[in-house]
Amino acid sequence: MAIPTVTLNDGTAFPELGLGTYKLRGEEGIGAIVSAIESGYRLLDSAVNYENEAEVGEAVRRSGLDRDELIVTTKVPGRDHGYDQALASAEASLQRLGLDRIDLYLIHWPNPSIDKYVDTYRAMIELRDRGAVRSVGVSNFTPEMLTRLIDETGVVPAVNQVELHPYFPQTALRAFHRTHGIRTESWSPLARRSELLGEPVIDSLAEKHGVTPTQVVLRWHVQLDSTPIPKSADPERQRENADVFGFALDHSDLGDISVLERGRLWDGDPDTHEEM
Ligand code: NAP
Repeated sequence: MAIPTVTLNDGTAFPELGLGTYKLRGEEGIGAIVSAIESGYRLLDSAVNYENEAEVGEAVRRSGLDRDELIVTTKVPGRDHGYDQALASAEASLQRLGLDRIDLYLIHWPNPSIDKYVDTYRAMIELRDRGAVRSVGVSNFTPEMLTRLIDETGVVPAVNQVELHPYFPQTALRAFHRTHGIRTESWSPLARRSELLGEPVIDSLAEKHGVTPTQVVLRWHVQLDSTPIPKSADPERQRENADVFGFALDHSDLGDISVLERGRLWDGDPDTHEEM
């Protein structure tokens, strides 16, 4: 079954599930990304700091798919914040990807103490206007930061990619996104596997629906209107992860999962955590 899409606030079609690529590197990484594309994945999540843009670009070429069928994401790292720096950073990313367009370009972390995310975003809008970027968005932004970006540039980010899983469902942030037409994207959607997949409530819902615990969690993201980007290097697990569009959790299932809420997995608070 093809992975369904939603429409972003800039009119582009965006898959309801994509592939995380952190740690997918080298020839093995390329093979893993190609196998995901063969299984129907169309959204690929990369970043300068994953040091795998070359692998992602190569997988896009090897897949043999029409370029417009794939959505390649990369991100501006903290050390490249600032207008001119972000323009140069995008140029370097395009070189490494070996592509002439970044489909979704995100600010990786806001790094508020540097206070340059608005200038960075202005450069991304310029890149979008030039055609080097199709959609502009952010990652790890709070409602206050999103409000500032919108107020100062008039451009609502298409996507905010944030930590989101049943332990940390980001209820208030998702409500803010809904109000402003920002698509939520879930990073570490499986909580990096941790103990989440062994939670009794997830297990019993898997049994109830005749699916795997991973599929319960990924279906939960889809029903929250957030695009999960599970990373797997294994073709079979990739297929399992993408196969979540043939069943639905009901209201009481969602209520059962909500008892797992307990907060972030580690100290990734965007107001204080900074990455370069
Ligand atoms: P994740 O997707 O929650 O979990 C990945 C782990 O789960 C891997 O160890 C993977 O192992 C395992 N796994 C995947 N499918 C499975 C299955 N069906 N059954 C059992 N285990 C399974 O964690 P993540 O990689 O941290 O997050 C996903 C993506 O989000 C990243 O790759 C990256 O693209 C993005 N991300 C973004 C940010 C940000 O700041 N914007 C931060 C973190 C992550 P195998 O590979 O062996 O299957």
